[in-house]
This record gives sequence, C-alpha cells and structure tokens, in this order.
Amino acid sequence: MSNSTKYIFVTGGVTSSLGKGIISASLAKLLQARGYTVTIQKLDPYINIDPGTLNPYEHGECFVTNDGAETDLDLGHYERFLNVPTSQANNVTTGRIYQTVMDKERRGEFLGKTVQVIPHITNEIKERIQILGKSDEFEIVITEIGGTVGDIESLPYIESVRQMMWEYPDDCLVIHLTLVPYLKAAGELKTKPTQHSVKSLLEVGVQPDILVCRTEHHLDNNIRKKIARFCNVNPTAVIESIDADTIYRVPLLMQEEELDKVVLQKLDLPAKGDTELKEWKAFLTKLDNPKSKIKIGLVGKYIELKDSYKSIVESFIHAGAYNECEVEIKWIHSDKITPENVKDTIAGLDGVLVAPGFGSRGIKGKILAIQYVRENNIPFFGICLGMQCAVIEYARNVLGWKDAHTTEIVEDCTRPVINIMEDQKNVTNKGGTMRLGSYKCKLLDGTKISEAYNEEVINERHRHRFEFNNAYLEEFEANGMIATGKNPESGLVEVVEIPSHPWFVGAQFHPEYKSTVEKPHPLFLAFVKAALENKK
Ligand code: GLN
Repeated sequence: MSNSTKYIFVTGGVTSSLGKGIISASLAKLLQARGYTVTIQKLDPYINIDPGTLNPYEHGECFVTNDGAETDLDLGHYERFLNVPTSQANNVTTGRIYQTVMDKERRGEFLGKTVQVIPHITNEIKERIQILGKSDEFEIVITEIGGTVGDIESLPYIESVRQMMWEYPDDCLVIHLTLVPYLKAAGELKTKPTQHSVKSLLEVGVQPDILVCRTEHHLDNNIRKKIARFCNVNPTAVIESIDADTIYRVPLLMQEEELDKVVLQKLDLPAKGDTELKEWKAFLTKLDNPKSKIKIGLVGKYIELKDSYKSIVESFIHAGAYNECEVEIKWIHSDKITPENVKDTIAGLDGVLVAPGFGSRGIKGKILAIQYVRENNIPFFGICLGMQCAVIEYARNVLGWKDAHTTEIVEDCTRPVINIMEDQKNVTNKGGTMRLGSYKCKLLDGTKISEAYNEEVINERHRHRFEFNNAYLEEFEANGMIATGKNPESGLVEVVEIPSHPWFVGAQFHPEYKSTVEKPHPLFLAFVKAALENKK
C-alpha cells in the first residue's frame, strides 16, 4: 500500500436509494477543491461480471468509460462532479471478483489450498480497492460499497473493509449513510433505524467514523447528540444530508455541514486550500435563474425507468444551465407512437432526441418521430440507435428504399443501410464484446458538428455492434444526407447530418457520457441552442 494514499469507504444502511453515489461524489468534489487528487470507485455486490448485459430496467443506464468498461451509472455522477475520467478499475462486481479468483484457481495459483471467501475473495477485493491507490495518481480513494449493510451479498465487501481498517488504521475511514425518518403522526425525527443500522455494521466488526443522515427535516443538536451517543461517534461527525432540489446542490450542503473538514481531520490530512467552488457555484446560479425555457422530446423505449437515460438527462441540465435556459423533458414512449398520433405527440416541442437502444421494440415509433421532425424542420439529435434510425428513415422516405433496415432487426435485409461490423460477425459472447470506449472521429469542416466542437478531431465513447453501411454512402450524400464525422483509421461513419435542415445531427457515439458540470458537452450545447432558435 502506497503510504500516501488514504481510503474512504462509504456504506449504506436502513434502505437503498439514499444517494451514496451523490454523497461520495460531493465529498470528492470538496476534497478536490482543496487540491487533493481524488477518485471514486464503486463495488457492486451482484454476480454479473459487469452491467453491460443488464437490461436498463434493472439498474438504469450502463455508463461507458474511455477504456471501454461498461459500468454502473454512479460512475457517470463521479465524472460529472469531478470532471476526471474513470476507468474499469473504478467499478468492480462480485462476478468479476469471483471470475478472477476462479481463473487463478484453474491456473493452480493457490498451490492446492482450499479456496475460500476469507482470505481469497476478500484478498481479491482488497487488491481491487488498492489498485487505484497504488497508481500514485490519487491521494484519496473513495470506495462506495453497493447495497445495504446486512445484505448477504455485501458481506465479503464489509469484511474486506474491516480487514483494511485493521491493517491500515491511520489510512482508512468509514462513512455510513443512513436514514433518519420523520414520523408525521408523532411530529418527530426517529433515530432508531440509524442505531440499528450501525449495530449491524458493528456486528461485522466495523465502527463507522462518520454518519451521514439522510433526512427531510433539519437535525437539531439534540438529535445529533443522541445519534452520536448511541453510535460511538462525535456529534460533529453526525452530518445532516437534507433532501435537495438538485443533486448539484449537495456538495454545497456537505460543505455547510463541514463533511470535508471532519474527513480530513480524521485522516490527519491538512485542511489546505479552500472550497470556494467558484465554477460550481456559477453553474448553480445559472441553473437557478433560467432566462428562457424549451421543451425537448426524449424518445426511448425504457422511459418507465428514467434512470435508463441518466447521462442524457444530466447533459441537458448542464447544457441548459450554460445557455441560461430551462430544459423540460417530455418523455415519449417509442412503443406508443403511431402514424395517427405522431403529430400531436411532437406538437409544441422545440427539439427531439431519439435515444440509444437495442432490439426491435419501439423502432417503428422512433422512425415515425424522425420522419416528422425531419419534414417539419424541428431540431433533431439522434444518439447511436437514434442515429441508425435516422439513416433508415432517410433511406426509406427520401431515397425510396422501402426495404432499408438494420441487420440487427432483419438479418437477411435486402438493403442493409445499417450493418453488423465485419469483426462482430463471429462474436457469440454477449458481455464486453461490442465496439466499446473512446475512438477518434474526424469532423468535416463547415458542418453543424464542427461548429459545435470547433475542433477537427474529437474523441468520443462508443457502445454498439452495428454501423452505417458505407456501400450506400455515395447515394445518401448525393441525396442530401452526408457523413460529417468519420473514424480516421477505418472510415466508419460516426456522424450524419442533413445540411438543408435547421439542425439534424445523428451521432454513432455517445456524447452524453462526456458532459460534466464544468465542461458541458458541445453537442448538447449546440442542440439546446438550436431548439432555442426554433422556439423563437
Ligand atoms: N443496437 C445498436 C447497435 O448495437 C445501437 C446501440 C446503442 O444505441 N447503444 O449498434
């Protein structure tokens, strides 16, 4: 263990969804503002190797990193808050831990020993936790443990935390996030669930240093003292986490509660620098005081669970704030769009985004929506499958190729305008086998996209198996849809535009993964601007 690295563990109790990811990201932001290099890691207790094979209805969006890791959506928050990229090392699942240990067993690396949860699984977990610390890139590693204390599946993680606390007492710290519910009938905040949750942690040998208490009402001093007394922590280490109207206010709330100061004191690190958070506050001021408002339709098939489109929604918040404009999202279920209702569905919208996705469900609706916005000059932004649908729509309705489709849906399609990539044809394993991660894209001058980026070569993240079929490119371009971004090595089409339309851009890559508070994404900025223009 590098002696300069400090490890902060964040556990959760009482219930899930208390916002461990946002608390971790907010603390990291405050420490970063003080000049520390910080990263955040998420340990997920499920047995999938990664969330790449999970349906978005399970845990929401799958976030993709530069190095092509398919990860938990909390990593998106980490990047949006810290403005520092994460990687595969920032997300570890039980499946990956076990797979590694079992591969080692097959290679005979355990020299005939019985392989057990302790020490073999816990050793692997501890190693994964320390990978980021050992890189010397980070002074502080925050590790968020998924799930809730008391769950069977998170036990090996908590045990690894216990061991690390014992092995490196000066370098580790545990923050436990709990709920302090308000009982309306009694008119009181209740501390019992927090007491019980800390008891569960103590049963497995972990004494938390700091308690972050999620609450709907302010915690007064008496409540703080009571929690402190029952849970063996200082009253100053009882931190209130009151419900906020936006996740982006949480760092400031944590700053008011002095979470960063308590953490640094406990880790014996100087409370250097200040947490002025100038840029952050400037962003919040804009977010709080929009001068205009636009309405964007988000067409997708997983919209019952809004977390499926987390990064897109956050990108709109960033781009909206920078344009001093509130972006209201109208959620449109692609399954429900018909030729009869498409006009009414899109009426009154200032722009339409067609979302990424997989499989045939909802495709017809996406294509109908695209035809409508194309023919009616409404700003359009298509991402991945959204871009592919735009290509299919153009082929069918402008080029007159009624049989045009993607081979993802019609394998023996006679006009495969979207086609499986050559190197994907023989891939049978589903996990981690798509075109994943960051690739270069060269932009054509004088186009919407190059105007948005003001750069010649960009890097964007991918997650797909199918591509624009270059065999048809000439005919598309001769008829008004042009490729405005291409991979410089392979010539693969990454961006399409219709120059005669006010703003029609389809991107094969996922810009939403790269938008952060301090660096809103240029394409979202440009799309919001175009929607604002359209409104005028
Ligand atoms: N299903 C499409 C493909 O695999 C698009 C994927 C996506 O939208 N992320 O190419």
